Amino acid sequence: MIHENFFIFPHLAATQNACEPHEPQFLQSVESYFDRAAKLSDIAGGTLSHLRAVDSTIRVTFPIETGDGKTEVIEGYRAQHSRHRLPVKGGIRYSEEVDLQEVEALASLMTYKCAVVNVPFGGAKGGIKIDPAQYTAEQLERITRRYTMELCQKKFIGPGTDVPAPDVGTGPREMSWIMDTYRQFNPDDVNAAGCVTGKPLSQGGVRGRTEATGLGVYFGVREFLSYPEVQKITGLSGKIAGSTVIVQGFGNVGYYAAKFFEENGAKVVGIGERDCAIYDPHGLKVDELYQHHRDTGSFRGYSDTVEIINDSVQVLERECDILIPAALERQIGLRNADKIKAKIIGEGANGPMTPGAHEVLEKRGVVVVPDLLANAGGVVVSYFEWLKNLSHVRFGRMDKKWDESVRTRLLRVIEENAGRVLTEAERKALIQGAEEQDLVFSGLEDTMISSCEETRQTAKLKNVDYRTAAYINAIQKIATSYEGSGMLFMT
Ligand code: NAD
Repeated sequence: MIHENFFIFPHLAATQNACEPHEPQFLQSVESYFDRAAKLSDIAGGTLSHLRAVDSTIRVTFPIETGDGKTEVIEGYRAQHSRHRLPVKGGIRYSEEVDLQEVEALASLMTYKCAVVNVPFGGAKGGIKIDPAQYTAEQLERITRRYTMELCQKKFIGPGTDVPAPDVGTGPREMSWIMDTYRQFNPDDVNAAGCVTGKPLSQGGVRGRTEATGLGVYFGVREFLSYPEVQKITGLSGKIAGSTVIVQGFGNVGYYAAKFFEENGAKVVGIGERDCAIYDPHGLKVDELYQHHRDTGSFRGYSDTVEIINDSVQVLERECDILIPAALERQIGLRNADKIKAKIIGEGANGPMTPGAHEVLEKRGVVVVPDLLANAGGVVVSYFEWLKNLSHVRFGRMDKKWDESVRTRLLRVIEENAGRVLTEAERKALIQGAEEQDLVFSGLEDTMISSCEETRQTAKLKNVDYRTAAYINAIQKIATSYEGSGMLFMT
């Protein structure tokens, strides 16, 4: 479970960022990216204003007992940005920084993200303004259930309306509580498991969801590095093996991204966390370090031969080929954009850089794989989980054995004609049918490859950066869906 350190080390909570005070808030940043892309699309102004606006938001407050007879009022939000496709989809975040503009920004980004990777959902996001480290598991359960009750009462949750997922500070445990609470309010909903994704396997989750966002980040960066034009700008060989990587944030997204880069031959040389960062030009051992961080809550004490950087955000400025910000928004701003040494940045986090920083980096020839594409792996696999929940059957259950028997028969014919009998190990490797996780990862890889290519083509056609290209594609697809449905013209 990713979030245990929150409960052990509550003092490790400080939000640093590298933005100048005049740099825009997250929502303004998303809107400015939208506006830039909108001008380059061929969509009419009225449709664009409708697309840009957040459809509905709720703000809820509710009391919880904190013990010794005291009560505390908790504040939560849910924003639904666009309902051109239903259900709307987006994570729930537990963080002290949660506010309306943040939730609206994240909900808007979800709409565009789903369109970029052709996931048929609208965008939403929720948040509770708490530092989860300050609460016991029992209190967090009560907060989660109470928030879900509010969502149920206001019809802001349901497999056909609005489907949350994990985000910062939440994970499979919270998703379980959400599903259970929804069930109690909707005992006859046969599709209740589809009211939330990112659930544990035992509760209807899908194999591969936990790894999905980090794996998608890996696929995204791998794809862009394989394009000759990216190799030309960055001077990189295009191969993951042998490249150096720095990751900021060692949570769900950061840990799995680091792990997949390492598994594919890259050297993870730096990792940043809240209290400090760790750097070793010879390469870190991701799993060993993760275990140490999980057990102690810090990178400190891991080894005498690696460097600890006390001002964590500075790890972003260290020497590397690939940089993966996977912690929070606004980590790369005008204060540090010109100091970044990476040649390509894969945005694991949502909104990790400001528009000003993006412009500086683009001018310097740093390739940015934007959040709405790079970290879309989570929602892609959430879509698979939702499909599994609605179909009530595990992926592969119907066809695995059939595929194996067809391949066995085919092999027999080949063996007879080739005059060679395969060993048992060879036979097993060739006939083995796909398990659920194989199918999920293959669906994710295919989606990332085609979405990266679509973004690349638009970037070439319009002569724009990849972020603008991804927004243009999203805007075109959503507008087509709206216009086709006639929803815009209802009075
Ligand atoms: P998480 O809570 O699992 O991990 C975040 C990690 O960042 C934690 O380990 C935390 O300690 C660390 N962190 C916090 N502040 C930091 C700082 N100032 N410097 C360095 N590290 C810091 O959250 P997550 O699910 O991994 O999400 C990370 C980012 O990825 C968020 O922007 C989120 O919106 C985005 N994202 C997540 C998913 C998903 O499936 N979980 C999908 C898409 C996008």
